[in-house]
Amino acid sequence: MTSLPIMIDAAFDSGNIEVLAIDGTCARLAIRKDNLSDFYQWFHFRVAGARGRELELKITGLNASAYPDGWTDYRAVVSEDREYWGRAETAFDTHEDGGTLTIRYRPQGDLAWFAYFTPFSWERHQDLVAQTALADGVEHRVLGHSLDGRSIDCLEMGEGPRQVWLMARQHPGESMAEWWMEGALDRLTDPADPVARKLRRLCRFHVVPNANPDGSVRGHLRTNAAGANLNREWESPTAERSPEVLAIRSAMDANGAEFVMDVHGDEAIPAVFLAGYEGIPSWSDARQAGFDRYAAILQRRTPDFQTRLGYAVASPGKANMTMATNQLAERFGAVTMTLEMPFKDNIDLPCAAQGWSGERSAQMGRDCLGALLEWLES
Ligand code: ZN
Repeated sequence: MTSLPIMIDAAFDSGNIEVLAIDGTCARLAIRKDNLSDFYQWFHFRVAGARGRELELKITGLNASAYPDGWTDYRAVVSEDREYWGRAETAFDTHEDGGTLTIRYRPQGDLAWFAYFTPFSWERHQDLVAQTALADGVEHRVLGHSLDGRSIDCLEMGEGPRQVWLMARQHPGESMAEWWMEGALDRLTDPADPVARKLRRLCRFHVVPNANPDGSVRGHLRTNAAGANLNREWESPTAERSPEVLAIRSAMDANGAEFVMDVHGDEAIPAVFLAGYEGIPSWSDARQAGFDRYAAILQRRTPDFQTRLGYAVASPGKANMTMATNQLAERFGAVTMTLEMPFKDNIDLPCAAQGWSGERSAQMGRDCLGALLEWLES
């Protein structure tokens, strides 16, 4: 059995770690900030040379991370085959080394990958776009390009008049949002699924599976290549700072919108929940009712969704109009919503092996479409 020190790197798609020190099977690590930004929380790295030996990986300096509350009761995801992602024994100590997450794991093989959440790579995005674009009745459009030159892909389908927009990964470290997309697009393109067939009769779907490809590939938590938080750019996006939002919003202006779902992940709250558009200038009881009705339908349809835990709502007139959900609700009179899935787990229905997972995110994508059909028809 080897006693050489382990080796750690993150020089790959969505990789993010800085190695401060390695001693045998113990490592002291830190997370790199998003480019031109102070946000950091996403990590994704590979450990080599640890077969059968207990790893002790310490990610330090986390009291200054974007969401320090995200580390309590959090467990890192780990995979040895990069297909199945489970959870590793993890503990957080706010008093150790500026806030330290300690991950312990004993790999069966030589290699193990660790991440903040199950990664969804840019290669997998290409596969998702390719497979969906080949399905019957689907049209693919490039809405524009990111600052690093990546495409903002949009998949369109359905013959109905009701304009539905689904978008994900404005915040690139919230990779569960693109797993949600994989489930939603799989359902929408399944010719044997009656919900999908009915939805495509009623609606025209515009689906943007990754609104921030540069941040995704760069291993960012929250921003694009220029350090812009895209979900604060919807009031006045620019080609220089936020071309991703400018491209998507321009396409929405050309097509209109009746229903918009913007898919995210939440670091701290152990539940799936929706955030709405309370506090926009045109808010009314009637407008609120459209949102509440969708939330009630989704809650009845899946035990993984709830309305007890969530964000505090904005006071009248106090909505942040730079956020997609508020801007688009006001702009189109649409029912819009931010769907938040946890990095941790759903505490009402926890899974010891995986916590919240890519698989559960994909199922949520399917369930949200079932709820949409019921919402449209009732
Ligand atoms: Zn987010």
